[in-house]
Amino acid sequence: MCDETGMNLDIRIFAFWGVMKLRNFLDKFFSQQKGSVAVVVALSLVVLLGFSALVVDFGSVHNQKSKLQNALDSAVLSAAQELPAGNTSSVKWIEAQNQAITYAAANNYEISADDIEPVYKDNQMTNKIIGIKVTKSIGVDYYFAKVMGFDSATVSGIAAAGVTPAGGVTGAVPLSITDSSLRAAINAGATDNLTIKCSSNANDIGIDNSTASGWFGALDFGSGASDYTLYIANGYSGSIQVGQILDMENGNMSGPTLDGFTTRYNKCADGCTADNFTDDCPRIVYVPVVQVISNSQVKVVSFAAFYLLECGGNGKNSYIKAKYIPGKVIPNSATGAGGEDFGLYTSRLLE
Ligand SMILES: [Zn+2]
Repeated sequence: MCDETGMNLDIRIFAFWGVMKLRNFLDKFFSQQKGSVAVVVALSLVVLLGFSALVVDFGSVHNQKSKLQNALDSAVLSAAQELPAGNTSSVKWIEAQNQAITYAAANNYEISADDIEPVYKDNQMTNKIIGIKVTKSIGVDYYFAKVMGFDSATVSGIAAAGVTPAGGVTGAVPLSITDSSLRAAINAGATDNLTIKCSSNANDIGIDNSTASGWFGALDFGSGASDYTLYIANGYSGSIQVGQILDMENGNMSGPTLDGFTTRYNKCADGCTADNFTDDCPRIVYVPVVQVISNSQVKVVSFAAFYLLECGGNGKNSYIKAKYIPGKVIPNSATGAGGEDFGLYTSRLLE
């Protein structure tokens, strides 16, 4: 990116150099005691105008470069919301390209598919596409420098943005799934009906509670049990980070789980279903993917998005089932690196 401060500094250095040259010229002129005042003024004006012209044109080129760069940055960041994509013929990649083209056009820059390249995971073309890169050059006409034989300058911009696994999430729910459970379900292709809060029934265990009896997957986001229901209903207002150690919320929490779930589930006003839901449906929840590290604590290793299906148990032995929905991109609220890839991403500009 080209910042305004850098541009102004360049111009100031250039103008200073010009003034010094002019002063040297005048000093020499006067020391030789030649000519009239009128000649001096005329010559001075010519030189001064020449430098002014260069300064104006120079500034204009920098300004255009900065505008182009900002437009390309916005275009790729917007396009990255459509990623990751399987390959260059996938619908998601085509949507990402279209998004970049549309976004650039809204800023009055015309780009085409020829200006766009995919960025592959680990730069291996056999991997999925995790980023989008746009390169664009435009001509900027000079105004004053034409007098000196300079017609135009070429200004180029390169921008790339991509998705990385979310390293932090605002609005998470105080439920969990262990990385081993989720990985096993993904590998088995059985992710449509997973447990993100289990009951005491062995058939809905979605967590590894072998080392923590009496734990059913509920988490304590730092204020004990009192806000648990609210955090399920509305999401935690703070941010949870990969690497964070969280206390387990012990016990079945049956009534609070059902209350929170019911409030949240009923917020959907669009008649969504597990197969057809809006991008911002309240039934979509962000769940910490955890490893059990003791009989009272877990470590957050990643995050995953789920669509809420049901809260069973009638508030007596409650469990929550949800459908795993990979591929969602959320605003970045990470303070560190992302964790293992469980399909919840943030977008950012790439180098
Ligand atoms: Zn909905």
